[in-house]
Amino acid sequence: MTRKALVTGGAGFVGSHLVDLLVDRNWEVLVVDDLSSGKLDNLAAARRRGKVSVHVTGIGAPELAEVAGKYGPEVVFHLAAQVKVPVSVADPLRDAETNVLGTLNVLESARRSGARKIVFASSGGAVYGPRTRLPATERAGRTPPTPYGISKKIVEDYFRWYAENHSLDYVLLAPSNIYGPRQDAGAEGGVVAIFIEQMLADARPTVYGDGNQTRDFVYVADVVDAFARAADAGSGVFLNVASGVETSVVELYDLVARLVGYPVRPDFTAPRAGDVPRSVLDPSRAKAVLGWEPWTPLDEGLEATVAWFRRPA
Ligand code: UDP
Repeated sequence: MTRKALVTGGAGFVGSHLVDLLVDRNWEVLVVDDLSSGKLDNLAAARRRGKVSVHVTGIGAPELAEVAGKYGPEVVFHLAAQVKVPVSVADPLRDAETNVLGTLNVLESARRSGARKIVFASSGGAVYGPRTRLPATERAGRTPPTPYGISKKIVEDYFRWYAENHSLDYVLLAPSNIYGPRQDAGAEGGVVAIFIEQMLADARPTVYGDGNQTRDFVYVADVVDAFARAADAGSGVFLNVASGVETSVVELYDLVARLVGYPVRPDFTAPRAGDVPRSVLDPSRAKAVLGWEPWTPLDEGLEATVAWFRRPA
């Protein structure tokens, strides 16, 4: 039987991979995306292969409840967001408009549409406090150091409220640093996309600080697999979605440089304001709850990502 999903942010980097996977698994999909950073191009393959429709609007739009109501999704995947931490610091109100009020509008629309469950993209990198013991487990206190992290955290209470009062079940997924094909160095600013794009263009990449800062890089196909699994497993839980492996920025640089065949050393400059020195999450709860694991090793994921960036125009 065909199942119906509504995916907010479905034309974006992560959202479009989720749409691909849902189509593979025979779901019908309605994408809601304002195309501010998402692209219809990202959905071209999914639209050829499956039943995918697109409604172009922001998640704060009053019409969302009606759109969702007409479609009648079984599950809502909520990935649309204001994703830039510096924007949230410069303009917390704008961040909250999308990430708090927009999320509330999605929750209300999901409830009114009769959806059974909502799966939400939180942030593993932004919700834990700077003094969290690493690797961070879900038991650690969530004291986000930025307005972006705060907006991702404070909406958790709304998910709980909708579950308790409107039987809308939920899973909150907190990915670490996601990378992979379709990541946009400009729109999302991930270091993997930036390094690959610059090395391929023969523009010397910059490393902020000494490059010994670490991140937990998780491959996009693995991440969306966790989202798809959450449609049928987990209830009222918050789960890290991460590799559990710490990789330094210089290690990453070397891996990408080898794959691209780029011989030049990075340009080391001053540390970036607000950068945390280390970030790594423990993914074992997602394994226990969803049967999920980070299957793709970094070198393999990077190889596929470099191949995508090399695609003919
Ligand atoms: N980074 C870098 N050069 C760049 C972009 C990023 O050295 O051109 C570093 C950045 O300082 C950080 C890491 O790469 O330590 C990851 O940055 P990103 O913005 O991808 O993720 P976040 O800092 O949000 O975890």
